Parts: sequence; C-alpha cells; structure tokens
Amino acid sequence: MQIRDKFHGHFKDIFLPSVLDRIIFLHTKKSKCMPSFLRHRSDTIRIISFFLFIVLLISFQSCRELPNDVESNADLIIINSTEEIVETGSSVGLDLSIPAATKAFSVTWLTDKGRIKGTGNNVIFEASGNSGIATIRAKIYKNGVFFAEKTIKLPVYKQRVILKADDLFRDPINVIPVKWQKFFEIIRKKKIKASLGIIGQSLENGNQAYFKAVKSLVNEGRFEIWNHGYEHFFGRTNARGEIYDEFRNTSLDYQIEHIRKTQDLSRQKLGIILRAFGSPGNGYDENTSRALEEFPEIRIWFFAKSRIETKILIPRVMDVEFPAPTPDFNKFLQNYSSKEKLITLQIHPYSWQAGDFIEFEKIIDYLISENVVFILPFEYLKSIRSK
Ligand SMILES: [Zn+2]
Repeated sequence: MQIRDKFHGHFKDIFLPSVLDRIIFLHTKKSKCMPSFLRHRSDTIRIISFFLFIVLLISFQSCRELPNDVESNADLIIINSTEEIVETGSSVGLDLSIPAATKAFSVTWLTDKGRIKGTGNNVIFEASGNSGIATIRAKIYKNGVFFAEKTIKLPVYKQRVILKADDLFRDPINVIPVKWQKFFEIIRKKKIKASLGIIGQSLENGNQAYFKAVKSLVNEGRFEIWNHGYEHFFGRTNARGEIYDEFRNTSLDYQIEHIRKTQDLSRQKLGIILRAFGSPGNGYDENTSRALEEFPEIRIWFFAKSRIETKILIPRVMDVEFPAPTPDFNKFLQNYSSKEKLITLQIHPYSWQAGDFIEFEKIIDYLISENVVFILPFEYLKSIRSK
C-alpha cells in the first residue's frame, strides 16, 4: 500500500502539470457533469479512463472530418490517358478528373519510369528508352491535406505484335472448334490479344449459338475478327489448267462478291463491321486491289505488297510457323528481331497438334519477356489516326 501511495505521489508531482492535475484530480472528483469513470475513486483508473476518453474524442473528430460523401468522391477521381500504351521515347497526355470543388485540390505526380512534364490536372508523361510497365501515381491534396492517391499503369513498348490467327469457322457439334477454344484459353491466360480471320461461309451456314459465341468473343476485348474470304480456297486448277485462288486469277466481280458476302454477313448476323482483310493462302492479284476499293470500311490489308493508297498494308516480316501450320520456338528465335516496330504473326490454331500449342506458348512467353504489346488491327488503325 505504501509503495502504491508513493508511486501515486511521484507520478502526480512529476508527470502531471498543475492544470491537468486540477482537471483530473480535483475537478473530476467534485463535478457531477463529468462522466462517472472520471469520478472513480482510484486515481490510476481515472488517469487511464481520461486518456482513453481523449483518444475516443480524437478518433471521433477525425471520422467527422472525412464524411462518407467526400470519401466516395475519391472514387470518382480518375486518370485518363490519351493512349493506353506508349512507345519508348514518346509521350502521352494524362488527365486527372476531379468531380467538384476543383480549387480545393492540388496534385503531385510521381512515376517509376520516364518523367512527368507539367503540373496540375493535365500533364505529359514522357516514356524513357526502356520498355516495361510504368506506374504513374497522382497524389491528391485537399486544402493542403493528403486526400487520395490514384494510380495508372501504362505499358511502355518497343514493339507491337498483331497475332493473325486464320480460319475461324463453325463446328457443327461444338459450335466453336475445340482447338480454337484451346487457343482462346491461352490468349486469356497470357492476358494478350489475337485477331481472328473468319471464313464468311461459316456465318451463312451458322446458327444463333455460333453468332452468339463469336459476338461474345469480340465483346471480351481480346479478340477482333477480320475478313478471311467467303469460301476460303486456294490452289485449285481451272479448265485451262491455270492455278487459281479465291482472290487470284478470278474476275473482279467474283472477288467483289466474295469480299461483300463476308462483310454483309458479319454486319447482319453479328452487327460487326470488319476493318481488315487477309486472303486465303495470301494469294491476290490486281483485281483484289480494285475489289477492295469497293469497301472503304476495310482499312487494313494483311500481307499484300500491291500499292494501294486507300489501305494500310501490313507486311509479313516474321513467322512462327516453320512451315505452316507448325510453330517452332527455336526457329522463331533465330528469325526474331526486336528492332521491328510492328510484327504480325500468322498462325493456324485449328491445324495444331498438342505439341504445337506448347511451342506457341513458349513463343508468347518469350515475347512477353521482351515487353512487347499485343494489339488488335483496329487499335493499330486508331494509333495511326491519332498521329
Ligand atoms: Zn486461311
């Protein structure tokens, strides 16, 4: 008991200033308006209770400073980028959208790659020469007090890759052929994108389940379909003994008709306008160039060398199948160059064996390790228009 009393005396004399002493030890004993725990007869309990009470008050106050409506406003603050990807050494605009009371907010920008030019809500992000993901943070202050932080991740690339997957058609039993389904799973698993050359006739003969499946594929955002002819044939021999393809050594009218059928079917059955064309077997002639002029909505022509002012020609600069349809990782590596700004890789998943899928995955993993960005033909179009 003596020790306890001594301790109390010591504590009061040294640690409690006289004002505080009075509040806790004198006032609380007498005042009926103080909470009951502050009038407790044990000094220790009163001291602890007093500090707990203060802590409670402070936390209550800080809660009041961030009412729910302000917190939810932080969710409305978004960073928009003028483009979703950035080439090494180039720049994009960033825009911070703050819903209300803009004058009360200020922002500090931070990035782990490249640099931010400018201040305020609209700035420029300049990518460095290194590829990879740039994490850009906007620290937002309200009346000088930290309020919220928003982040955007921008892929910085040296090379863009279009996967040109040929020969999508309907399977009478599985709707989408099993090998195509396996291919789509790889694309989803790797979080990349692929463009699919649809054979027009499959839309003619197709049913609602097929249309629905193709539409939902496109709606995923990872896939784009393009015109791969209507009948899809090549290497036939005509009555005069000449070799002909759907789009080679056939009449202009015939070629126009075969492009049109696939364009119309896609529009009617899927509600999708096809923006790119690639012929079966990549065979084409002068009539193909003229036929394509009839379709201003088709903007991209895969693997053609003909000069045609109205179309964007995407050349074949690299391969993954040696020979088609067999992907070969080692041969791909021997031919691969990271210097090409855009590469379009032609593949035939429907014709692959189990081992071919494994080789393809190795090639994709390698490209991912090189920080390439997989894009769709329409995204390539968009990037050209914005320049
Ligand atoms: Zn084909």
